[in-house]
Amino acid sequence: MRRKVIAGNWKMHKDLSESQNLISKLTNALNKEETKCDVIICPPFTSLSEAAALVKNTKVKLGAQNMYFEDKGAFTGEISAAMLKSVGCEYVILGHSERRTIFGESDSTVNKKIKKALSSGLRPIFCIGESLVEREKGITNEVVKRQVTEGLQQVSKGEMEKIIIAYEPIWAIGTGVNATPQQAQEVHVFVRNLIGEIFGSDTAEKQIIQYGGSVKPDNAADLLSQTDIDGALVGGACLDADSFMSIIKSV
Ligand code: PEP
Repeated sequence: MRRKVIAGNWKMHKDLSESQNLISKLTNALNKEETKCDVIICPPFTSLSEAAALVKNTKVKLGAQNMYFEDKGAFTGEISAAMLKSVGCEYVILGHSERRTIFGESDSTVNKKIKKALSSGLRPIFCIGESLVEREKGITNEVVKRQVTEGLQQVSKGEMEKIIIAYEPIWAIGTGVNATPQQAQEVHVFVRNLIGEIFGSDTAEKQIIQYGGSVKPDNAADLLSQTDIDGALVGGACLDADSFMSIIKSV
């Protein structure tokens, strides 16, 4: 039985005091609950250090939203895996569709980042997903297959235990239109089978595959009840402690 993982991607929201406020509300609320899932928050870089102090000895784990694959050097504006580790991050979101579409990240860049994260002791939340045009053309499986195989080049079977895959159809991100539980389940089964072909069925069986894309308190339970949906990567609805808590409680 796979334990579900609910992660919050704050994107470019919340300054330092807003971050402190949200984390305090969340950790207080979680203290009162018996949670049946793991909870990860991914605030912006500027709040990570403070966030690490606030989540210490709580049920909340800390992740970042991106990193660069080089160790150090003349890469203005970039953040390394070691820097994330040094402020207490355990996870890092990689290959988010906003990174791919707005900032031009390719599958091969995402692969370099995944390998660097793993060798640095960070756990990647590896995002994949098709655009609306690709879904309408009927090439969803082809697209996620390319993203998975290229993104996981030279990743070992043992390292797969550290990776969370997040299936996030681009047309569902921030649009309020979530994939139906059946649409998501279908792709999750496809991805799990693919992981089985590459790494073996034992790895596939253990693989955490989250769904992301307009997960809200009112649709979370239906999505999370699907056999192959092992959690959620939540954007908009994680910015409010009550709505994030209500998604966590729907597990
Ligand atoms: C995301 O950014 O990963 C996401 C799923 O956003 P939203 O929940 O707002 O669609």
